[in-house]
Amino acid sequence: MPDYAKMLEAARDAVTLSSGVCREVQLALDSVREITKDDKSPVTVADFASQAVVAKVLTDALGEVVLVGEEDSKFLRDPDHAAHLEAVLAAVNDAFGGLSADDVLKLIDVGAGDTHHAGFWTLDPIDGTKGFLRGQQYAIALAYVENGEPVVGAMGCPNLPANFGAPLDEADPHGCIYEAIKGDGVYEIVRGGQPTRVRRNDIEAGDPIRVCASVEKAHSNVSDTDRILEHIKANSGHDTGEPARLDSQCKYAVTARGQADAYLRMPTRPGYVERIWDHAAGALVATEAGCFVTDIFGRALDFSHGRGLEKNKGIVCAPPRVHGQVIGAIEALGIQPA
Ligand code: AMP
Ligand code: MG
Repeated sequence: MPDYAKMLEAARDAVTLSSGVCREVQLALDSVREITKDDKSPVTVADFASQAVVAKVLTDALGEVVLVGEEDSKFLRDPDHAAHLEAVLAAVNDAFGGLSADDVLKLIDVGAGDTHHAGFWTLDPIDGTKGFLRGQQYAIALAYVENGEPVVGAMGCPNLPANFGAPLDEADPHGCIYEAIKGDGVYEIVRGGQPTRVRRNDIEAGDPIRVCASVEKAHSNVSDTDRILEHIKANSGHDTGEPARLDSQCKYAVTARGQADAYLRMPTRPGYVERIWDHAAGALVATEAGCFVTDIFGRALDFSHGRGLEKNKGIVCAPPRVHGQVIGAIEALGIQPA
């Protein structure tokens, strides 16, 4: 049996180091833009740097790994993008020092693993790129998937405040890390502190239901979400307000820790298939806190179909009673993805 504790330690170290690297790139947005002459490049630079950092920490700790990452090195190998490569190298060497451009390109390509293994890692080096560019929420999401299910996961949320009173749309100076092994619970680590267990209570009769959803309207259907909330309000006695909007898998963390009561991702575009790295780590975090995580028809997420969740549509993540209300509303309203 794999040594899950050792894998978790490596995953935690990887996302912690990468969170620091991404934070530095975000603080230096303007100078990165100046080097690369491109407005969107800071996220590109941080994406590649993050994938290289995670690949190095995992392979240093665990030896050869199968890593299915969102990025590959093709863009950086193009001589037209030499400035980007230089910026990525500088960012990675902030963490390690002494690596060459070739080392970094090879590390990024460690992430070219495929999913035809009983167990593999999957990584979103920067989930929530729009949030990163706005200086809001994003995540470094890493999970080990075994037989179609995430079993070890670590998620860096560099801008997510631990304090529920702090605004979610501003960058927190500390951020949070979440880590979980299937069956052993999920833990939150605030910089320098000890891991504390995250558990969430279900809602009680009369409690309001607070939902969270994407900021980007192209990523989750706003009108379906509104219809679901209206239906629940009209039929259950639970008040439902406006959804909290934040980018990335931070939505899973916010639901896991009880700051939101559901994360809804309602399909928008016909045929869109969710990517495994957008959900593997977050779904494990939420499940281990006591949430149900399924698609909009209540089906378990199935990570055994390559890089996409081919057998699923959208996401509903919530503690059991809320989950039941949402799935019931979707059924009653006859919502069908396009
Ligand atoms: P979020 O931060 O919730 O807006 O989600 C960001 C993720 O949405 C990105 O990592 C993309 O993989 C994914 N995405 C891109 N297009 C769509 C779409 N049409 N529907 C759902 N998710 C999408
Ligand atoms: Mg993503």
